[in-house]
Amino acid sequence: MKNTRVLVSGAGIAGPSLAYWLDRYGFEVAVVERAAGIRPGGQAVDVRGPGLEVAERMGVLAEVRAKGTGMRGMSVVDGDGVEVYRSQERTVSGGELDSADVEILRDDLAKIIAAAGGDGIEYLFDDSIAVLEQDEDGVRVVFESGLRRSFDLVVGADGLHSRTRRLVFGPSEVSIRHLGTCMAVCTVPNFLGLDHWQVMHQMPGGGLRGAMVMSARDNTEARAYLMFDPAGTVDYDHRDVRAQKELVARELAGDGWEMPRLLELMRSAPDFHFDSAAQVHLDSWSKGRVVLLGDAGYCGSPLSGQGTTMAMVGGYVLAGELKAADGDHVTAFTAYEKELRDYVHANQQVAITNMRQRRAQIAQETAGAAEAAEALAEAGAEEFTQVVASYSVKDY
Ligand SMILES: Cc1cc2nc3c(=O)[nH]c(=O)nc-3n(C[C@H](O)[C@H](O)[C@H](O)COP(=O)(O)OP(=O)(O)OC[C@H]3O[C@@H](n4cnc5c(N)ncnc54)[C@H](O)[C@@H]3O)c2cc1C
Repeated sequence: MKNTRVLVSGAGIAGPSLAYWLDRYGFEVAVVERAAGIRPGGQAVDVRGPGLEVAERMGVLAEVRAKGTGMRGMSVVDGDGVEVYRSQERTVSGGELDSADVEILRDDLAKIIAAAGGDGIEYLFDDSIAVLEQDEDGVRVVFESGLRRSFDLVVGADGLHSRTRRLVFGPSEVSIRHLGTCMAVCTVPNFLGLDHWQVMHQMPGGGLRGAMVMSARDNTEARAYLMFDPAGTVDYDHRDVRAQKELVARELAGDGWEMPRLLELMRSAPDFHFDSAAQVHLDSWSKGRVVLLGDAGYCGSPLSGQGTTMAMVGGYVLAGELKAADGDHVTAFTAYEKELRDYVHANQQVAITNMRQRRAQIAQETAGAAEAAEALAEAGAEEFTQVVASYSVKDY
């Protein structure tokens, strides 16, 4: 087999999924992660359709199900905390409850996938690619720590703000589409005493703006989601957590329900994730010996509800195509993209449709908060289910 030494940048969901399969197929895999370990925090994510099939093939599906959030339903409350809508059929975070999909905290899933990988996978934490040079024979990498190593292939699985992408693709080759919403997520105490339940407050007045709290880890804690549509282009440093917290506090100051308490808890939260809902579009996911995977190459945004499934399936397909091509990267990268591009495109489209529908429905809120909330939870549900199921996992 050719090209057996592979460096993966990013130990989120996509990177460890790919590493699992590459290791199983006999590649030599190193994963470099900027953080000191698998990162804590983040929202509840969903493993659906082909993602469930990949989890099953990895042998982790039972564990993923066991760690699922087990939500029973949701309420929507007005500014005084009075319930105006209730559902035991669906939630805002996870969609239909009566389905095979699993909703799980992002960090729980990341840990399960990383732990499933073979002992041969080398993890380099607290480091990052600083310089990357490729030619016909391989890729020379200088890490921020000063370490220098050579690899046959490099995979950028380092998320929406991928440095690998920046190092390899020019600005004109990458299109980042902001969908006009920002969201922060952090761990808070379960101060509302929620029992496998989520409560949402949507501010009146148009646009997505408000908060959602859901109990987590068998009600021992909760995750708070703080959302707003910025007035214009939001300018923030994606690595400056303090500035991001100030931005969220500024945007949501004065809002009703539990917002003052949530903003206070956010300041001292043990974890915090903030981002603008954005999509990544590229005409090609690879250049030479470097290829992009997951959010780095084709982020659909949280509004797609499919980022995690695309990351897991992407890892499975990329490794499978490398195996099938006996390590020939030109053949494998072409096949990987051919296999997944339509699925990715359909999921990205769903996010855009959802966003438009939700905005339109919220704008009609004068009809009543309950109707608006119901519409918010139901937006695009049918089309979404069809898109999720539109890809069947191949055998390699
Ligand atoms: C801490 C955290 C919280 C998140 N919370 C949410 C959320 O609340 N809502 C949501 O929709 N999505 C969230 N995401 C993104 C979500 O996990 C992804 O959309 C999805 O799971 C696809 O996974 P991915 O592996 O492609 O990207 P990610 O899960 O984003 O993983 C990328 C990984 O690469 C690492 N990385 C970044 N830059 C470098 C670098 N230069 N060198 C080395 N490593 C690097 C990151 O630390 C991360 O571990 C979060 C991501 C992270 C890292």
